[in-house]
Amino acid sequence: MAEAGSTYSDDMRMKPGVIDLTQNEDLLEVSEQVNDASQASQKSNAPVASSVRELLECPVCLNAMYPPIHQCINGHTLCSGCKPRVHNRCPTCRHELGNIRCLALEKVAASLELPCKYESFGCLGIYPYYSKLKHESQCTFRPYNCPYAGSECTAAGDIPFLVTHLKDDHKVDMHSGSTFNHRYVKSNPHEVENATWMLTVFSCFGQYFCLHFEAFQLGMAPVYIAFLRFMGDDNEAKNYNYSLEVGANGRKIVWQGVPRSIRDTHKKVRDSFDGLIIQRNMALFFSGGDRKELKLRVTGRIWKEQ
Ligand SMILES: [Zn+2]
Ligand SMILES: [Zn+2]
Ligand SMILES: [Zn+2]
Ligand SMILES: [Zn+2]
Repeated sequence: MAEAGSTYSDDMRMKPGVIDLTQNEDLLEVSEQVNDASQASQKSNAPVASSVRELLECPVCLNAMYPPIHQCINGHTLCSGCKPRVHNRCPTCRHELGNIRCLALEKVAASLELPCKYESFGCLGIYPYYSKLKHESQCTFRPYNCPYAGSECTAAGDIPFLVTHLKDDHKVDMHSGSTFNHRYVKSNPHEVENATWMLTVFSCFGQYFCLHFEAFQLGMAPVYIAFLRFMGDDNEAKNYNYSLEVGANGRKIVWQGVPRSIRDTHKKVRDSFDGLIIQRNMALFFSGGDRKELKLRVTGRIWKEQ
């Protein structure tokens, strides 16, 4: 039998309380939970809770079901997302599905309270079944996706994990300090499609920032864009400013902006033009020489808003 407060089943958090079915008192506890579902969160029981969880799993897509939960005339349940996809046949017994809603199961679900799925990342929140999804979509402990976009990378984790990952697996340049001076050289600037995507990481103010530089097509015109992303959430990103400068021959373009959180994909930032945009002709002019090579020097600074 489990010790108080130490039992976990699946991701179901147990409330403190020793459950020993050999004692009448505890048997009473168990039956109370079954009879009064609203108490389930106060005194939980692993077998009851996990079997309810199983009942709430759609047999087709295996996701947790949310109202409206449907059932066939034999009582087999199905999620509303899968219902239109099974051609009105119960996937379990092949009977016609009709339009029967399973209110009882919807109500049982309402009585469940579950830990946030990012518990292992440090979130201690416990949420009612129906508000858990909303919380998880905004949970500050939810992992960040790898900000490197040169290839499809599925790595995700917290910021220290991603910094190590960028260093070790993507071999990105890491710099410390809040000012930088970076050269972008490309031998064939007329190829926009396969333009190398570059990422540099800066650490300053105890935070990490990613400098992106890439070529893309803006309408008919090939352009370059440089922008900064903050390795953290948007509310913290707003505390910083940055400037980027590119130029030569007595001309320069200056951009001042607010770094975007890496919660926003690099593509989203790029497509909103939230950065220093350099027309190709201007970029080649800044490169000097014979226009066969792109040679841009981007200087920048990051500072904290007071
Ligand atoms: Zn489903
Ligand atoms: Zn059925
Ligand atoms: Zn959470
Ligand atoms: Zn990665």
